[in-house]
Amino acid sequence: MSQKIPATVITGFLGAGKTTLIRNMLENAQGRRIALIINEFGDVGVDGEILRGCGVEACRDEDVIELANGCICCTVADDFVPTMKKLLDRADPPQHIVIETSGLALPQPLVRAFNWPEIKSRVTVDGVITVVDAKALAEGRFADDEEAVAAQRAADPNLDHENPIEELFEDQLNCADMVILNKTDLLDADEHASVSDDLKPKLRSGTRLVPTKHGQMDVAILLGVGASAEDDMANRLSNHEMEGEEQHDHDDFVTFIVSLGEVADKAALLKRIEQTIAAHDILRIKGFVDVTGSPARLLVQAVGPRLNSYFDRPWKTGERRGTELVVIGEKHMDREAITGLLRG
Ligand SMILES: [Zn+2]
Repeated sequence: MSQKIPATVITGFLGAGKTTLIRNMLENAQGRRIALIINEFGDVGVDGEILRGCGVEACRDEDVIELANGCICCTVADDFVPTMKKLLDRADPPQHIVIETSGLALPQPLVRAFNWPEIKSRVTVDGVITVVDAKALAEGRFADDEEAVAAQRAADPNLDHENPIEELFEDQLNCADMVILNKTDLLDADEHASVSDDLKPKLRSGTRLVPTKHGQMDVAILLGVGASAEDDMANRLSNHEMEGEEQHDHDDFVTFIVSLGEVADKAALLKRIEQTIAAHDILRIKGFVDVTGSPARLLVQAVGPRLNSYFDRPWKTGERRGTELVVIGEKHMDREAITGLLRG
């Protein structure tokens, strides 16, 4: 039993805005130590340089690792897995790992790589986030510069799949736990609505489409960082009755906490969480569960349809056992209905 490091996979075509999104995320990391693995090799070194030179405290040089040997899904065994192992074996391993893939990589084989035994026991996939270029889509293209995407493919001798760009795009959407619709400031309301309507049927049930401008996205939504007092939520909450109370308010998103008692049927609760996310405008649910008879607390983290749970550590002596779920979602979400569903 040990706490696992969450890893977030960020995919999307060259020019969609992944690097800007990551830079903004680092600037708002709230002291969290984040390591970056970058495989966006279209303009070799550029992404890494932008991020390395960013002067953000959360982003030390050694925390930015470029995989420049070609497509990440085609070099999983030679490049990705050894890099992950090195990161995990550090004296001070990162608290969160973010992997920026090129839009040419197939997300599924990369996600499967997290099942390698050396990685699986120490890392959990927090979520797959796909960044799409709303402006390009509105104009009938998948990427801002499709020729640059084609050139990127031609330049990679290790890339061994020939999927057409529309198929890659479908893969990215299919695999996504959250889709960031970037550059919405360049669209009028009708274009925005039409792009959203086109995308929604291509997403899995529970995957939310989150509009953003200039890659500005709350880090609590992106990574779950700051969504709760990560390690000590139950104790912190015991000081106040926070249930149903709004903790903080973003422009379009809100966070609230649902408290449950002891949970006798873990599987039934997990099922209810999945159903609640699919039925409501929820981006994330995270928290701890007091499972009847278990000496350890169950950690739960869900992003869209992806739900992780494992026993991360024993309840401490004197610690108040309890079940507290932090729900992050769209402002208009129906809290009463969500609370009711989660309580079962
Ligand atoms: Zn590949």
